[in-house]
Amino acid sequence: MNKAEPLSLWQDIEQNGVQAVVARISDAEAIEMTERYGSHNYHPLPVNIVRAKGVYAYDGAGKQYIDCIGCYSAVAHGHLSEFVCETARRQLDKVTLVSRAMYTTELALLLKTVCEYTGMEMACPMNTGAEAVETAIKLARKWAYTIKRVPQDKAEIIVAAENFHGRTTTIVGFSSEPQYKQDFGPFTPGFITVPFGDIEAVERAMTPNTAAVLMEPIQAEGGIIFPPDGFMARLRKLCDANNVLLIWDEIQTGFCRTGKPFAWQFEDAKPDMICLGKALGGGLFPVAAVAGSREALSVFKPGDHGSTFGGNPLASVIAIAAMAELQTSNLAENSARMGARLADAFRNIGSEKVLDVRGRGLLVGLEVKEGVDTAELSSRFIEQGLLTKETRHRTFRFAPPLVIDAATVDEIAAKTKAALQ
Ligand SMILES: *Cc1c(COP(=O)(O)O)cnc(C)c1O
Repeated sequence: MNKAEPLSLWQDIEQNGVQAVVARISDAEAIEMTERYGSHNYHPLPVNIVRAKGVYAYDGAGKQYIDCIGCYSAVAHGHLSEFVCETARRQLDKVTLVSRAMYTTELALLLKTVCEYTGMEMACPMNTGAEAVETAIKLARKWAYTIKRVPQDKAEIIVAAENFHGRTTTIVGFSSEPQYKQDFGPFTPGFITVPFGDIEAVERAMTPNTAAVLMEPIQAEGGIIFPPDGFMARLRKLCDANNVLLIWDEIQTGFCRTGKPFAWQFEDAKPDMICLGKALGGGLFPVAAVAGSREALSVFKPGDHGSTFGGNPLASVIAIAAMAELQTSNLAENSARMGARLADAFRNIGSEKVLDVRGRGLLVGLEVKEGVDTAELSSRFIEQGLLTKETRHRTFRFAPPLVIDAATVDEIAAKTKAALQ
């Protein structure tokens, strides 16, 4: 008998399963393969995660980490939430993907629950956050032309400096981060930038052609930056007075991250449209949406906008389960309590390296002083078993899953203190 031919990669995968093939690849090999075959549009920490559960993630050597990145707030329910995973597993035996050419009951229930959760009247499902922002921009412009009667192609949208709304060519065109734009132009016109939190600047920027103000309630990627108290409510009033739509991008701050379902709820600042994503996917799957008033969302007519995967049945049930778990497990309250505990503990560390601690709920930024070697600090966090990464302005972001308990919060503080020594 001939010696058996070695299996090709495809046969190996087919016969033994993808997970078996993955399990044979070491952390070092995985990193090398990623750098060789992947475009270098990220600079990851030198950590390769092979499994995760709850607030913990593990590398191939079995080292445990507390996941304080939480996929930038997308892992709010903890890794592999029982309820969200069980919901997805059941759906895998039923139907996962049709197109918007037909109705599905799953999408129907998603739309109803998103509206109920956000207090909005209609919603438009998408997959990723950037798509939700793009959708809101299209809605705002069409609303401006068809309802407000702005002259064609003159609609303006006011945005904040240091914003982060995603990475499409339109969106990076109104970023103030040079690297996000460098070599990617030409950009879409129609966006006016004002300093974040400056209500007078917004007022000055408004013209009869202003369609909308699009902002984050807290600039998370921008370094966990808060506007002055009262800004959100004043912005709401200013938009009302000028017949301008207020759009909050709550893709990162939403779904209980800041201790309330949405960060705008800290003031009387209900938006006309809200961009949703990240945690809406229950830590499992990309799900995003725009929700808003019937007046704003009604401007879309068949063919105006779409997405092949947007609102598919699998995504729908995952998002429905994700919102239900936030409600029934009272994760807003846990986020508020645990976030306050973490920020207090950070303030009590008493390290001369720390410049500032800012946070609301479980979105906490630890800003280190000029001169502190952030690359070295980053490796010390890894040594301590903490996954955290800096956003802009030397600020390390701590956004662990919202299911975290007090003992683990105290552990994060103790490990952070050790890393800062
Ligand atoms: C992450 C994020 C986005 C973009 O979401 P993607 O799913 O990465 O496209 C938009 N806005 C804010 C505030 C975000 O944090």
